[in-house]
Amino acid sequence: MTKYAEVAVDAPAGYYRTFTYSVPSGITVSQGHLVHVPFGPRVLSGIVFRISDESPVSETREIARVPYPQPVLSPRGLALASWTSSYYMASLFDCAALMAPPGISLRAGSYLSLNHPVAEAGLTPSQRRVVSYLKGREKVRREVLLKALGPDMEAALGQLARRGVVNVWSEWRKPTARPRHAAHLELASSSIDVEAAAADLEGRRAYRQADLLRYIGEQGAPILLAAAGREFGASAVKGLQAKGLVSRLKLRQERDPLRGRVFTPDHPPVLTQAQEHSVRLIESAIDGPSSQVFLLQGVTGSGKTEVYLRALAHALGKGKRGIVMVPELSLTPQTIERFGQRFPGQVAVLHSGLSAGERFDQWWRIQNGDYGVVIGARGAVFAPQPDLGLIVIDEEHEWTYKQQDAAPHYHARDVAIKLADLTNAVVILGSATPDVVSHRRALDGRYRLLELPHRVSPETSLDAPLPRVRVVDLRQELKDGNRGIFSRALRSAMDSTLRAGEQVILYLNRRGSGSLVQCRDCGHTMRCRRCDLPLTYHSQAERLLCHRCNYRLASPRACPQCRGSRIRYLGLGTQRVVEEVEHAFPGVKTLRWDRDAASARGGHERIMESFVRGDAQALVGTQMIAKGLDFPNVTLVGALCADIGLFAPDYHASERVFQLLCQVAGRTGRGRLGGQVIVQTYSPSHYAVTAAAAQDYEMFYKDEMEYRGEQSLPPFSRLINLVYAHTNQDRCRQQALTLGVALKRQRDAWGLTGVDILGPAPAYPPRLSGRYRWRLVLRGQDPRSLLEKTPVPQGWTVDIDPMSVT
Ligand code: ADP
Ligand code: ZN
Repeated sequence: MTKYAEVAVDAPAGYYRTFTYSVPSGITVSQGHLVHVPFGPRVLSGIVFRISDESPVSETREIARVPYPQPVLSPRGLALASWTSSYYMASLFDCAALMAPPGISLRAGSYLSLNHPVAEAGLTPSQRRVVSYLKGREKVRREVLLKALGPDMEAALGQLARRGVVNVWSEWRKPTARPRHAAHLELASSSIDVEAAAADLEGRRAYRQADLLRYIGEQGAPILLAAAGREFGASAVKGLQAKGLVSRLKLRQERDPLRGRVFTPDHPPVLTQAQEHSVRLIESAIDGPSSQVFLLQGVTGSGKTEVYLRALAHALGKGKRGIVMVPELSLTPQTIERFGQRFPGQVAVLHSGLSAGERFDQWWRIQNGDYGVVIGARGAVFAPQPDLGLIVIDEEHEWTYKQQDAAPHYHARDVAIKLADLTNAVVILGSATPDVVSHRRALDGRYRLLELPHRVSPETSLDAPLPRVRVVDLRQELKDGNRGIFSRALRSAMDSTLRAGEQVILYLNRRGSGSLVQCRDCGHTMRCRRCDLPLTYHSQAERLLCHRCNYRLASPRACPQCRGSRIRYLGLGTQRVVEEVEHAFPGVKTLRWDRDAASARGGHERIMESFVRGDAQALVGTQMIAKGLDFPNVTLVGALCADIGLFAPDYHASERVFQLLCQVAGRTGRGRLGGQVIVQTYSPSHYAVTAAAAQDYEMFYKDEMEYRGEQSLPPFSRLINLVYAHTNQDRCRQQALTLGVALKRQRDAWGLTGVDILGPAPAYPPRLSGRYRWRLVLRGQDPRSLLEKTPVPQGWTVDIDPMSVT
């Protein structure tokens, strides 16, 4: 009887459903297999989600080929892909691809060539452009042509293909990784008496051969030929081979990112009471029958990582395994070290810095169950770790858990919670400053809240103090005639800190800088009347613009609040700060740490190590320095201008500033020396600043929830961001207007009064890599219901639960 397969196809339109194909007799296809299937005029990749005896459609085409004998996705992977696709309204194949083994030949590329010479006379202008591009080229990737001539050429290309003028075919990309095999040496026979043979060699003055033979004998396993040659000399290797004492063999060699790292096992400390309480609850959840999510809230240094380690140890003890996610930038050797020391030999690492070969080998070994824990950035949530018992998401509020630059726009935290649900695993979300949405869920009882209210002092296991935080009003500095970037308080604190031989961190939040408009006298920022979002300055038009509703205003000459004329544009670079430090404190060495400096100087690691070593007394940096790093000699942190970012045109702006200021404050006072933090601002009474200064999450939460409630923002609603990008600005605007009208009509027709449609308006930034961007935002309890009734045309990006709606 014919079998049918439900296949997610790698079609360019990005369907979030499967297509039915029949399974030809003679080939075996099962759930999770990669297949090649005909789709329109082409043959494309697909992944089999289900096999059944019946087809829901009368006509089916046959599966063409099964390129790999083994399934590439497990049933668990398929279930997670289905959820990810339907939740994020993303292509089912793309979601499945996130879970497939790395380096295999997963997708087909579509190629074009000119079939025969054609008379140009009968062609439309677009068709003529396609033909002249293909002329003289043997074969062109479809995407390359569309990129060169623009996506509008799609229609012309289809017409030419149908008329047989253009050939279209698929080719699979070559695999980018394979298992590696390397030559090894072993004893030629187990009956060789190593000691006797070595003594005999020594008698003949072949000392190196004797050493090598003993070494191989001691290892009890084949050794790498290359290493033997390096250590003992090529002639020793040749000599032993010639005497028939050792032989060569090829063996699979694992490329291990932690190769050569030796971890000295550590001794777990005695837990504090708060840790003990948390660990006990998590352990019983791990032993329990169903999934549970914990929100572990504790200031930096309160011992959250120790809780993760204990929970993991418990899971391992029960024969289960874990996944630990940290933000990409925190995936430092220090972090890996802590897990490696507690669980030597049991740690796999997955991150963007791995070579294709390392990634390949780690993936297969993880799937094989070789590791107790996988540590990685957001993509680690898709690791094929079997027997899941625990998933940890450290710094759960971090934006890097959301995939922003490419579809599917998933959030690793939400995927992890779904994965735990599928596998009855436990999730720990850890943070000093949780996303207010997570905190709210904990208060609602959807997550279980665990608190670590105090810092641990590593020497004594007792509570250690938090650093003192002082807020300096920059308006007052100006009134008193200080126009420099350092307030008097910061300057004198820097002076005494540097004199004492201690280190200083100066922190500059540069997000969204350079375009926000603020009055230097009163601190007033220009805001949209309709949205209350800060307006951004556009120099070409000399105008201020709201990126949510497209409200426009001519640049003001005077401040509308205090009539002052000292309007300025926020924005200050790290380079300028370095110069100011060197000018104010001659002889003091300064290190710069931002994206540019990190890429120029061989990475974050180098800069960090250099600062810890004391090569410089001051470190000037952007948000990167706020990550979980330990600088024991830092006793002063200065946040130069908390306002930058506070008025970014984004509803997360206050939350982000609060989180960053708290994290930056956490960078000091970690050592014995204590520490202080000085926050400079034009808005000393803004709740994000005052709450951060008091290091009081509840205080921030209360005010932030009030704002979110007034504006109907998450958690009081859900958002969907729709963005259209195109090189032609008019077309972009036109598309946005058309979809906006269509959505409103559908909404009214279906009576979906609970969905607000905001915009269309230019997105922020309005132009990205040469393409203009316009956007619409859907807001409501269930905005997805509207999209399910109104398919979004091709070319639009759909972002469910966006991090930013500007
Ligand atoms: P967090 O992850 O919350 O920043 P950590 O787990 O890194 O906190 O703990 C901060 C420091 O305190 C680390 O050096 C850690 O080794 C140490 N530490 C954690 N728990 C204890 C404990 N119960 N007793 C002693 N030291 C501890
Ligand atoms: Zn507005």
